Amino acid sequence: MFTDYHTHTPLCHHAQGWPRDYAQAAVERGLDELGLADHSPMPARLEPFDDWRMSLADLPRYFEAVEEARAAFPQLPIRLGLEVDYLPGHEAWIEELSGMARWDYLIGSVHYIAPGWDIDNPAHISRFESGSVEEIWDLYFKALEACVRTRAFDFIAHPDLPKKFGHRPQGDLRRFYEPVIAALAETGTAFEINTAGLRKPAGECYPDALFLHLAHEAGARLLINSDAHAPAEVGANFDDALALAKAAGFTELVRLAGRQKQLVPIA
Ligand code: ZN
Ligand code: FE
Ligand code: FE
Ligand code: ZN
Repeated sequence: MFTDYHTHTPLCHHAQGWPRDYAQAAVERGLDELGLADHSPMPARLEPFDDWRMSLADLPRYFEAVEEARAAFPQLPIRLGLEVDYLPGHEAWIEELSGMARWDYLIGSVHYIAPGWDIDNPAHISRFESGSVEEIWDLYFKALEACVRTRAFDFIAHPDLPKKFGHRPQGDLRRFYEPVIAALAETGTAFEINTAGLRKPAGECYPDALFLHLAHEAGARLLINSDAHAPAEVGANFDDALALAKAAGFTELVRLAGRQKQLVPIA
């Protein structure tokens, strides 16, 4: 029943295993489909942008590696995706990227909340202590809402990423979640349960149970993904994610091909 659409490759310089290795793991774990979604290139004029994404020049190698996996595992549908960084002002670039391949899906991700400040980068952890967690969450969720409202993405990644290192603001967090969830519902953009949070200090999937509950009430659509940066992480903790999805009331999961959504009932 499961698909895993959020996996990486060595082209982003911080993941291990090529698509054929991820495909092998997906077959061993009995997944119905695998999708690759490595960190998107930036326009050549902005490179070097950071040290954790593929370069534009590597895009053909990415396509080749996905084709190689498809040839090696013809029984497994292998989708071609990309984890695209949303930054304000990059809309034209995102549009350009969307025309560079026959993508099965584009994932919208917010990692940067200000120039040079990628909040999930351990290099910047001290900013959570020296600054205001409230303000960081506010900047992040405003950017995430803008990301959704571009309508450029099939689903968004790790919705409450700023909790990665364990920093959560005081009080009821729905003040952050509600605008994003309204945008998901209005634009028909789906979101993922991302099990990588379990492997981080956050100690739980992205997003939390409250986000899931509110998103289900609003009619938003869901996927379950691992954000694997190594083949051993493919499908990791999907049973935990499924339990969360069911507890929030979800009865269907999204599948994607050629940027078209299909809903599959949860068994
Ligand atoms: Zn990564
Ligand atoms: Fe990400
Ligand atoms: Fe990722
Ligand atoms: Zn990610």
